[in-house]
Amino acid sequence: LLEVVNVTKQFGDLAALDGVNLAVHPSEVVAVLGPSGSGKSTLVRCIDLLESIDGGAMYLDGELLGYEEHRGHVRPLTEAGRERQRRRMGMVFQQFNLFPHWTVLRNITEAPVRVHGVAPAAARERALELLEKVGLSDKADAYPRHLSGGQQQRVAIARAVAPNPRILLFDEPTSALDPELVGEVLQTIKALAATGMTMVVVTHELDFARDVADRCVFMTDGHVVEDRPAAEFFSAPRSDRLRGFLARSS
Ligand code: ATP
Ligand code: MG
Repeated sequence: LLEVVNVTKQFGDLAALDGVNLAVHPSEVVAVLGPSGSGKSTLVRCIDLLESIDGGAMYLDGELLGYEEHRGHVRPLTEAGRERQRRRMGMVFQQFNLFPHWTVLRNITEAPVRVHGVAPAAARERALELLEKVGLSDKADAYPRHLSGGQQQRVAIARAVAPNPRILLFDEPTSALDPELVGEVLQTIKALAATGMTMVVVTHELDFARDVADRCVFMTDGHVVEDRPAAEFFSAPRSDRLRGFLARSS
């Protein structure tokens, strides 16, 4: 479903991604782990076309992401072309980024109605359905400032799911939350995974990765060091770097 092939990303002299390969199959949940600065956010931001890449290629459902062929050459997509591709992906950030002056319901229905051309009544019905799934049926008319961080993040997840994306990308969805609110958000993501949603989740929550991910990817210095089924990843790490990381993190 998603293929990342030998992708590089430079920030000046720094190779934030240095030849990254990753394949994500339909309904798979892939956790991305690694120390601070290893390139995890850069990877999901490149996939979501928030950053351009300097080398390699990415494909969503076999379609080249961010570029198009034109008279035998490959050239960057226009902004409109990138927007079209981004509509097939959902992203959930550490900071929930809800629009403060809109109700929960409008936060969820806005993109389906304005961007995807869904009829308002249908978008509303779907939003209410999703709010029920994330346990917030009673908050449809509330404003974000009246919700806890965990509730806001669950709204952000409902918003990302509403347009029926092919894949959901999470960048440390629980890192900004008070510890007692982490569980409810992880539970929501786990329930979503059980519906067959394809996901890439950057996280520091090792128990969650072990429990929910099919595969775990370990990054350091812009490289994928290990990419293994979750059970093996934790029980039999191959590299000293991963062994050390797991020892320090648990
Ligand atoms: P963390 O766990 O702290 O979120 P990360 O694995 O997500 O770390 P990235 O944010 O992807 O790491 O950063 C990878 C490297 O790229 C870091 O050295 C970072 O300083 C650098 N970097 C990221 N974004 C930029 C930017 N916009 N400009 C310059 N350097 C950047
Ligand atoms: Mg990051």
